[in-house]
Formats: sequence, structure tokens, C-alpha cells
Amino acid sequence: MQIHDKNFEIFITADEIQSTIKKLAGLINLDYSDKELVLVIILKGAFIFAADLVRSLNFQSQIELLSAKSYGKEITSSGNVEISLPNLNIKGKHVLIIEDIVDTGLTLSSVKSALNKFGPLSIEITTLISKPAMRKIEIDVKYIGIEIPPVFIVGFGLDYAEHGRNLPDIYAITS
Ligand code: 5GP
Repeated sequence: MQIHDKNFEIFITADEIQSTIKKLAGLINLDYSDKELVLVIILKGAFIFAADLVRSLNFQSQIELLSAKSYGKEITSSGNVEISLPNLNIKGKHVLIIEDIVDTGLTLSSVKSALNKFGPLSIEITTLISKPAMRKIEIDVKYIGIEIPPVFIVGFGLDYAEHGRNLPDIYAITS
């Protein structure tokens, strides 16, 4: 499959993604069912993962959206993270950040320190995908779906230059 100037092949199927999300939801349900939780979804990439995840949670929660951007038409992280931060009502509450993919860790590290300024009770992170070999900064991710090697992927919310987010499977770049 081609998107813009790059070729991609299937890497993680929609079925594997869905069973991963069910597993993550099971763990989150165990930890938070008796707590007041705010789910902070990182846009744009995490919107599809979050839509499936939150519908598998069996407790009530507040949902907030936050926009963070670190890639343009590149396939490596720029390291410049732009966060657009609304005034979030998370003071004294448990927060769970929902992210699509953790690569260098720079985005989540910036997001976490920005959220900490609002005085939450706790902040944990869930990500559908993690590329541990790419970390530039140590970041504690409590609920990790699938670990992958350092390869650029698209689909299920993840884009290449704003295309490919709607694909139900995840594809990896080949050339
Ligand atoms: P980090 O700040 O951890 O390097 O990168 C986090 C962000 O970079 C993710 O939220 C995502 O937007 C983007 N990103 C990292 N790896 C990939 C990838 O393989 N594919 C796509 N499409 N985006 C990625």
C-alpha cells in the first residue's frame, strides 16, 4: 500500500489490536473501578484507540482532550513538542493519559509535566504501542499494549503526513 511517497505493509491486524485493547481495559478496570478518574486523550493520534478503550471501561469517568504534535512530514520524532493545553479540571483527581504510541518519550514527558501543574492526585499512562529502543527520556508507562521495534507505522489513528489514520489495521513502512 502506498501513502504519499512511501510504501507500507501490514504489521498488526485489527483483531490483534482489539484483543490488546480488551486486555488493557481489563487491567485499568481492576485498578480504577473504585476511583474517580479523568481520562486525558492525546490528539490526534490516540482518538481511535481511546474511542475503543473507553467503551470497554466499566466505571464512570471524565474525558478530556489535549493536542500534542511532534511529527510533520517526517518519520522520525522532531523532539519539538507543541502542546495545546486547555484549562483542565483535574485538581485532586486521578488521571490516566491515553496515548497512541510512545517513541522517544519526549511528548509524554512534556504532557505529564504540563498536567502536573494542575495538581492531580496521580498520573498514569496507557499506550497502545511502545517502541522501547527509541527512548531518549525515561518515562513510566503503566499500561502498554504492544511493544514493537523501531519502525515507522501508520493506521488505527496514526498518520503519515495526515494520511492513513482511518486504516483499521496498522501498517509498517517498507520503503
Ligand atoms: P515521542 O515524543 O515519544 O517521540 O513521540 C510520540 C508521538 O510521535 C506520537 O504520539 C505519535 O504522534 C508520533 N509517532 C511516534 N512514532 C510514530 C510512528 O511510528 N508512526 C506515527 N505515525 N507517529 C509516530
